[in-house]
Amino acid sequence: AKANGKAQAQLFHEQMDTDYRYRQRLKADLAVCVAANGLTLVYQPIIDLRTRRVVCCEALARWNHPEFGAIPPSVFIPIAEETGLISDITRFVLASAVAECRNWPDDIAVSVNISARDFRHTDVKGMVEATLRDSGLPAHRLEIEVTETALIEERDAATKILSALQAQGIGIALDDFGTGYSSLSYLQALPFTKLKVDRSFVVDVVHNPRALKLLKNVVQLGKDIDLKVTAEGVETEEQLAVLAAHTKVDHIQGYLFGIPLPRRDVAELIDRLAG
Ligand code: C2E
Ligand code: CA
Ligand code: CA
Ligand code: CA
Repeated sequence: AKANGKAQAQLFHEQMDTDYRYRQRLKADLAVCVAANGLTLVYQPIIDLRTRRVVCCEALARWNHPEFGAIPPSVFIPIAEETGLISDITRFVLASAVAECRNWPDDIAVSVNISARDFRHTDVKGMVEATLRDSGLPAHRLEIEVTETALIEERDAATKILSALQAQGIGIALDDFGTGYSSLSYLQALPFTKLKVDRSFVVDVVHNPRALKLLKNVVQLGKDIDLKVTAEGVETEEQLAVLAAHTKVDHIQGYLFGIPLPRRDVAELIDRLAG
């Protein structure tokens, strides 16, 4: 057993070493990719529950690694935050998303994720204002998504910047609501226009009455303070039916209405749902 334990410890350390080297490799390759403008964007539609039309599309970054294939954002975004590459990524996503939005009907907005590190190291306000000015997109067609993590880490900076942007008509969404800490205090202090309820509240609503009660009350909470509420991660007709019958949710995002799509395909989907 002792020999076995030793062998396992050895394996463990080899694995750690491999993971470490893999991560270092990804770090270096991501820098090359970003410098060469090699990231791409996909857009996921967000649908109005009543009209069944697209109201917004969320821009999501994609990295297709030449050797390892698709690297998920849950892997490369934290690396980008750690290395500082996130500034360049956010700038790229914002500029591309705003430009793409101009091709859509003018009642459809675009949303972009801003990370904690952006509030610390990037002039988010200046960047957003310059991007809108250069593109001519009206402020109300842009929405910024921030998570509680961003707010915990950079509360004062984020509050100032987001308030200024909101005053100009830009939408501000609290993303992944319900997965972080002390969410309610952020709702009081920050200028949100929208609440995005995390997928974890939606996943069980069909079979678990407690899950439904929780979701219903989280949605109600958002409505009570005059926010639009989006349910994330809606995958089935059954979930949609329960949401429509038992909650006051405004908007739906999830694989049921559309996975994140390249720009051409999302334009087609917008047309189809409008027709
Ligand atoms: P997020 O902002 O919460 O984005 C929604 C994620 O949920 C996306 O994952 C989307 O593909 C996924 N999703 C949407 N509908 C469904 C569904 O019905 N079922 C399931 N299981 N998943 C669904 P994705 O694209 O892998 O992105 C993961 C996270 O990475 C994002 O979560 C966001 O936090 C981050 N991210 C992605 N792109 C960017 C970016 O450009 N900048 C920043 N800062 N973060 C980004
Ligand atoms: Ca988001
Ligand atoms: Ca989310
Ligand atoms: Ca998420």
